[in-house]
Amino acid sequence: MVEYDVIIIGAGSIGVPTALATAENGIKTLVLDSLPSVAQGDNKHAIGGIRATHSLKSKIWLCQRSIDVFSTWKDLHGDDIWWEQGGYSFLAFTEEHEKMLKDTVRQQKEYGLNINYIDKEKIKELIPGINSENLLGGTFSPEDGNASPLLSLHSFYRKSKDLGVEYKFNEEVIDIITKNKTVLGVKTTKAEYKTQYVINAAGAYAKKVGNMVDIDLTVVPESHEAGITEPVKKFFSTMIVDVKPAIDAKFGNSKNYYFYQNIEGKVIFCLTPEPNIPGFDRRETSLYLPQISKRMVSLLPRLKNIKVRRTWRGLYPMTPDGSPIIGKINDIEGYINAVGMCGQGFMLGPGLGELLSRVITEKLSSKDHQMLRELAYSRNYYKIEDLK
Ligand SMILES: Cc1cc2nc3c(=O)[nH]c(=O)nc-3n(C[C@H](O)[C@H](O)[C@H](O)COP(=O)(O)OP(=O)(O)OC[C@H]3O[C@@H](n4cnc5c(N)ncnc54)[C@H](O)[C@@H]3O)c2cc1C
Repeated sequence: MVEYDVIIIGAGSIGVPTALATAENGIKTLVLDSLPSVAQGDNKHAIGGIRATHSLKSKIWLCQRSIDVFSTWKDLHGDDIWWEQGGYSFLAFTEEHEKMLKDTVRQQKEYGLNINYIDKEKIKELIPGINSENLLGGTFSPEDGNASPLLSLHSFYRKSKDLGVEYKFNEEVIDIITKNKTVLGVKTTKAEYKTQYVINAAGAYAKKVGNMVDIDLTVVPESHEAGITEPVKKFFSTMIVDVKPAIDAKFGNSKNYYFYQNIEGKVIFCLTPEPNIPGFDRRETSLYLPQISKRMVSLLPRLKNIKVRRTWRGLYPMTPDGSPIIGKINDIEGYINAVGMCGQGFMLGPGLGELLSRVITEKLSSKDHQMLRELAYSRNYYKIEDLK
């Protein structure tokens, strides 16, 4: 039987950059995925937003490192992954949201993040043509940005293969083999492989993989829809996040929605439905486009003549507190969680991959220990608060 140092379950937003990081550290790595090729789970459904401006230290530090990787990737490795540093802007239309955003900015500045609360006039410069009725102001974090999830993952994949990572597709993991509470290997629909470590990076299916070692992960998939327009001349770069909820008796209520114009001039957009839609359903609906286009055109009227090319639906692997579950567990030696990425798996990937490789090599810094404590499986999921 072939033996690996680590087997990663899932060739997605987390599994692929993790394999890259483990290979860079000389760790013999196998990645298994039930789908036919790389990034075919929910990575390809992500719209490409990348920000370090979270409220939780662990997510800030992981995404700061991810931004280093995304922003230097083309220079270091030659592949264009469409990285663009357009920033993020959360808008405030009510005093309640203004206070919430200002409080968050204060905290984020304490963590050293480059973010400010800016007034209505500055927002109008940032987003030309914005409907400023009732607009009070908003945040702006110029170092955040966006990149193509598919181009990024394919480039990480190629680089990791050059470094010796093996990938096996169309091969579902059906069991994790353990003895005396220690991981010995994994069993797939095609074979068995020996390994010292298993990383659960199974995205929306993480709970099922956790069950293989008798742990109950609180990871629940939720459906989210997105869409993309035809390309038009570039007129804004920032990721616009409208946090005000909307009541819509005809097409359905929604919470926030967000969109940006990518490097090709296409506008990419996504919305959080109210209530959440738990489950594995990835069939796009006929309600989503009228629901979000109404909100987007009302906010930015010059979008009204742009044609939408397509919409799609994917899953956020959600946890009760909106933060991932990362690291080893006490009960099973050799099992590592990298699950519950919610709506942030693409942006967390490179930073998290490097952290996971340090978990395996046991070269953890005090910052790493702090992150692993914050994101531990054994934490209290009803205590930590963060912007979703
Ligand atoms: C509409 C939408 C917009 C989004 N926008 C953003 C965004 O702007 N920025 C951002 O950071 N994130 C965004 N996300 C979230 C992001 O897509 C996810 O958080 C991320 O893809 C999760 O990464 P993952 O590696 O955990 O899962 P995935 O990328 O889904 O990878 C998991 C892989 O595991 C495989 N797998 C599962 N079980 C098994 C098994 N038993 N055996 C073998 N293989 C298995 C699956 O086939 C899959 O390929 C968005 C998501 C959606 C739906």
